[in-house]
Amino acid sequence: MDATSARQRLEQMLAELDRSIGVLRGDPVAVRERSAADAGSDLSDADRAEAMLTVATAHRRAVLDALKRLDEGDYGRCVDCATPVPEGRLEARPEAARCVQCQGKRERRR
Ligand SMILES: [Zn+2]
Repeated sequence: MDATSARQRLEQMLAELDRSIGVLRGDPVAVRERSAADAGSDLSDADRAEAMLTVATAHRRAVLDALKRLDEGDYGRCVDCATPVPEGRLEARPEAARCVQCQGKRERRR
């Protein structure tokens, strides 16, 4: 994937994440629609929104980091071992910062 299409996809993802985060943080219209739709389940909804917000915020951070790597010319290389991240992985996850091996190691450490 070339830098131009990578940037396009990342910027598109960023715009979508910004939109979801805005809604989850309590865009008045979305909140009003939701509380009208299922009043009475406010607590679990709030919990769910909170969990989604955490995921979306972390994802947004990863997308921003990937855009920064594009600017610095480091995009597509694993941030841990510096080997090129396989094309197929970048197609599936343009924000991926690590090769599969390093990502696996990182997730096992958690
Ligand atoms: Zn690696």
